[in-house]
Amino acid sequence: MAEAYLELGTNLGDREVFLARALALLEAADGIELGQRSRVYCSKPWGGLEQPDFLNVCVQIETSLSPQDLLAECKRVEKALGRQVRERWGPREIDIDILMMQGVNIDTPALTVPHPRLMQRRFVLDPLSDIAPRWMFHGVPVSLLAEALRVDEPDQVGFPDEKATQRLAELRGSSR
Ligand code: ADP
Ligand code: MG
Repeated sequence: MAEAYLELGTNLGDREVFLARALALLEAADGIELGQRSRVYCSKPWGGLEQPDFLNVCVQIETSLSPQDLLAECKRVEKALGRQVRERWGPREIDIDILMMQGVNIDTPALTVPHPRLMQRRFVLDPLSDIAPRWMFHGVPVSLLAEALRVDEPDQVGFPDEKATQRLAELRGSSR
């Protein structure tokens, strides 16, 4: 089993419901066990497109799957939840990205792990530092990277969303 971290994002429809259903489907998949989950963060979209705010959450998993099979599973869940193909950086029902995976360093067109944009995105580093503050990335702990980004990228607006965090917990019931 390897430890890995996934990030789920959504900015269409009932966003907490999409997050809850994605977590349930991941949990039901063979070879994936869900662990700790971050708070839910709300972030303003960036990249120039006018679109609704995003909700993001990071989840720790233990997996027996290869990185490729884990990606296939993430895409299967996206499809099951009706993710439509739209423009890059555009609105989406659900997006599931592999942020990092214990002992894995891959850079191919289909899959790059650690995630190539991990270091530049507050909506990745803020939730990730909730659950993996000491994970080292290029020799620097995630908590420090998140802190640096809050200073360097004040235009990336994001904050922990208490209401969304609470609602996701309710939708998930007593399970994690
Ligand atoms: P975004 O880059 O906004 O997540 P998509 O979800 O549409 O956009 O992903 C585009 C492609 O990125 C996927 O088809 C997948 O093959 C590839 N990809 C590369 N590395 C990763 C990763 N670490 N996690 C998820 N997808 C990845
Ligand atoms: Mg993606």
